[in-house]
Amino acid sequence: MTEVRPRTMSTDPSSTAAAPDLVVADARVRLPGGGWATGLAVTGDRISAVGPAADLVALAGPRTRVVRAPGRLLLPGFQDSHVHAPFAGRNRLRVWLNDVLGKQAYLDVIAAYAAAHPDEPWIVGGGWAMESFPGGLPRKEDLDAIVPDRPVFLFNKDVHGAWVNSRALELGGITRDSADPSDGRIERDADGEATGCLHEGAAYSFNDHVVPAPGEAEWEASILEAQRHLHALGITGWQDAWVTPATAQAYRSLAADGRLTGRVVGALWWDRHRGLEQITDLLAQRESASGAARSAGSGVSGFFPTTVKIMTDGVLENYTGALLEPYCDGCGGHTDNHGLSYVDREELAAAVTELDALGFQVHMHAIGDRAVRNALDAVAVARRANGVHDHRHHIAHVQVVQPEDVPRFGELGVIANCQTYWAKPDPQMEELTVPFLGRDRAEIQYPFESMRAAGARLCMGSDWSVTTADPLAQLEVAVTRAERGGAAFLPEQRLGLDVAVDAFTAGSAYVNHDDDGGAIVVGMRADLALLSLDVFADGFVSSAGAPLADAFVELTVASGRVVHDLLP
Ligand SMILES: [Zn+2]
Repeated sequence: MTEVRPRTMSTDPSSTAAAPDLVVADARVRLPGGGWATGLAVTGDRISAVGPAADLVALAGPRTRVVRAPGRLLLPGFQDSHVHAPFAGRNRLRVWLNDVLGKQAYLDVIAAYAAAHPDEPWIVGGGWAMESFPGGLPRKEDLDAIVPDRPVFLFNKDVHGAWVNSRALELGGITRDSADPSDGRIERDADGEATGCLHEGAAYSFNDHVVPAPGEAEWEASILEAQRHLHALGITGWQDAWVTPATAQAYRSLAADGRLTGRVVGALWWDRHRGLEQITDLLAQRESASGAARSAGSGVSGFFPTTVKIMTDGVLENYTGALLEPYCDGCGGHTDNHGLSYVDREELAAAVTELDALGFQVHMHAIGDRAVRNALDAVAVARRANGVHDHRHHIAHVQVVQPEDVPRFGELGVIANCQTYWAKPDPQMEELTVPFLGRDRAEIQYPFESMRAAGARLCMGSDWSVTTADPLAQLEVAVTRAERGGAAFLPEQRLGLDVAVDAFTAGSAYVNHDDDGGAIVVGMRADLALLSLDVFADGFVSSAGAPLADAFVELTVASGRVVHDLLP
């Protein structure tokens, strides 16, 4: 361990003169470039000193909080580069099924919620897993038995389908005569009667047009609930991967009066049913919000809707991920299905070029190898047309990546937005993905280490509430490519702990254009996470595994404010 000499802020006399607000001493403090310290001080919203613990404790005044943290690890706050905070927070406040598994457990949670909220006209929420139902299909009768009189609408974990009861179908006017929408399907029995499961577009249009939309107060409460959860996991900033005008308004209100303690970049939603004309609306959304962010003061925390999110394809589990070669049929043959490009190749290039010229960052969802290639091609076209700018475009998920596309991330300055928790052998991978990709393509999934070695910058995000928001659980999979104790999935793609932690802190700060955060450096914003265990200790990561998720976050500081505190 290399000890650095004490450094204090010299640029701002007021902060060196005043005693710090917080001193953390005796922890291992991780500095950029592999350095270590044992102490850190925070003054106002800044890191004001870093150095040996004794020197830092000597700075303390009568009102300084001194935290002695032997055996603990102090990291920069994590930043989640792909998360659905308002949606997840709303479900947490309503019917939250993510923490249980199995039909009976779901029904118990739903029944208890309905009993506790007798006046709520709709029972909404989500988080059920397809694997808990035969054929992945829950039925309305199970809900009818516990909630017969009120409509129930529950998205699944992946948000690609919904479970509804008979009352909801009735209110939605869904009968045996209802046609399926072009981008979805109503699950039916042999007689054509809806059975209680809506797929894709059928679920989205039901959610948009039948389920009452939350008001601003509910969105604010939802974001605050999500923020509380994210702060408890050491997360101090995030990129919201799907901002709507309603959630953007809620973020703006929270930022304006200081209740938004995280730093949030908002990705405005690209409507794949519209064309380039929607860019006028996106510009208007960006302008209205950046005015509010400026008036909020320092702008260190706040809401920055400076990104556009484009879903370029679907997912492999329902064959909507866009592939170069067709899907396999699960038994060694091929189908004629190549999946779907939600935005076709030429239109994607035109959109990215136009957005790039207007200074937007583009955040593209790309799962299949064709989607990844189209997304990289789109950035290449934009660079040829506009020159090279610092917009930090990124591609999320990067599940199937052809080897020839791996070096293009680094060459084009496209950041790989990694959901590392998905890169492990689990039932979804074994049963729903590998048989339909075939062996060759199964072995080029989530090539995080190859991309890094070829010069790509990495950032990390959870896609919560699809899967856990806990960065430590995600980091554990990033460095093991395994469920705890299980076999590894493409172990050559394991990331080193240094690389993985950097991606979840500095890497995600980079993608969020947060050049003032993501690292422990004197003068930078004080975003910090104190871990209960030193996961960098010798032997913590071994050939037997890396129990990172055994650690938890004891203290989170966002812009100098303590926002999560388990310490005595
Ligand atoms: Zn997402």
